[in-house]
Amino acid sequence: MNGRCKLCGQTAKLVKAHIIPKGLYKDLRDSNGGVSKLITNTVGVHSKRVPVGLYDPQIVCEDCERLFSPWDDYAKWSFEKK
Ligand SMILES: [Zn+2]
Repeated sequence: MNGRCKLCGQTAKLVKAHIIPKGLYKDLRDSNGGVSKLITNTVGVHSKRVPVGLYDPQIVCEDCERLFSPWDDYAKWSFEKK
């Protein structure tokens, strides 16, 4: 889907940008083997399962998503070192 990238301002194909790096999700899962859940306290909105994490397909273009990649990798690497 094309749209206006929130980072560079260009109109381009937007990609699914994970809110929390995908690599960190396995540590957020239910320790009993369940999937991640999005819990809400918004009236009328129910909590839901989010097995592949939360992403937003309307934030950034592919080039800008690539800019985050080294930081995502670093966060994953440093988290796994603990
Ligand atoms: Zn962009």
